[in-house]
Amino acid sequence: MILTKENAKQLDIDDKLKGFREEFYIKPNSIYLDGNSLGLLSKRAERTLLEAVNNWKNHGIDGWTKGKHPWFFLSERLGDMMAPLVGAEVDEVIVTGSTTVNLHQLVATFYKPKGKRTKILADELTFPSDIYALHSQLRIYGFDPDTHLIRVKSRDGRFLEEEDIIEVMSDEIALIILPTVLYRSGQILDMKRLTTEAHKKGILIGFDGCHSIGAIPHSFSEWDVDFAYWCNYKHLNGGPGSVGGLYVNKKHFGTAPGLAGWFGSKKEKQFDMEHSLTQAESAGAYQIGTPHVLSLAPLLGSLEIFAEAGIENIREKSLKINQFLMDLLKQELADMGFSIGNPHDDVRRGGHVSLEHKEAARICKALKDNGIIPDFRAANIIRLAPVALYSSYCEVWETVQVLKKIMIEKQYEKFANEREVIA
Ligand SMILES: *Cc1c(COP(=O)(O)O)cnc(C)c1O
Repeated sequence: MILTKENAKQLDIDDKLKGFREEFYIKPNSIYLDGNSLGLLSKRAERTLLEAVNNWKNHGIDGWTKGKHPWFFLSERLGDMMAPLVGAEVDEVIVTGSTTVNLHQLVATFYKPKGKRTKILADELTFPSDIYALHSQLRIYGFDPDTHLIRVKSRDGRFLEEEDIIEVMSDEIALIILPTVLYRSGQILDMKRLTTEAHKKGILIGFDGCHSIGAIPHSFSEWDVDFAYWCNYKHLNGGPGSVGGLYVNKKHFGTAPGLAGWFGSKKEKQFDMEHSLTQAESAGAYQIGTPHVLSLAPLLGSLEIFAEAGIENIREKSLKINQFLMDLLKQELADMGFSIGNPHDDVRRGGHVSLEHKEAARICKALKDNGIIPDFRAANIIRLAPVALYSSYCEVWETVQVLKKIMIEKQYEKFANEREVIA
């Protein structure tokens, strides 16, 4: 079947989530396909941010306990709101820190080298910040990262095979850190299977959920994942520098935080100002210092939208609109040097399409020049993320038509084939 603009229009009419689009600030005459790097501002997130500012204006110090969203309990409240998105109990999630800081906290807490079990297992396709953090954690113990960080190899530079990961789960591994969804290829790892296998071998396992939170459902508690951490500025639309999230399985409550601070206290005890920490009996124990209130506040509004839309509906549309994009790319751009570098199987693909081309850097610049915002990942990847809450099928149609025009007219030749400072 040949897809047409009429198909796109009909899909938009039938879209159950279409009403959410008008909740977002979408720049006129532009198509935003970078919601997997920085989600757009919603009117509700703007409102809750302004409410937090007003709280400061009206209450000063008393904003910690007064006003619409008392700051002292904000991280816990947001953890409650976020728990359904990761499939956890409310006490198991806290909104705190940032991705990398939370990784440091969780490794400092759960990496306990003993006897010959001293190594950490990660993968060679993961986000660099995770590797830097793991290297530095190993160095704190006096271990050489070259021998103590095992990075599972990819067979093709795009994907990881679960069996390759399982094969290296030896009795020398103390801890495993893996992404939920790979940031380039958008591959979803089988978290349930990996967790089961890790536990069979007596290894703790944690996941980096940056590319999956808000895009796909999770069942961390049911899968018995030990811990996870993620950022909230991508699919969750929490804004630049939005506070991150972490999950700790309740079976680990009581484990002393590796990086302790007074905000990890039991709430009733915190202001006793004792020099011995009485830690919270929840994921809240892994907070460190005063929360970044103004970077938490937009999440109140944003998470309301996720609760209303439902993560299952979001996933359903995300799969459908990304499939529409892939089908159009195949139909319209055949023989132009493109290949699709994400998994095709629904259970293995996350929330974006990973389009590969040797001229990717400058094709991205040409797209931006045409008002379409993609995302470039060196060396040759154009990430396109139609987002369930605010992207339309007509926008996807338009994007592919523009891309075709760029290729036919060789518009990309006007630009250098190199990345910008931020790509
Ligand atoms: C975006 C991203 C990060 C970013 O970490 P920050 O500490 O929030 O800067 C880390 N890991 C992955 C997989 C990411 O996609």
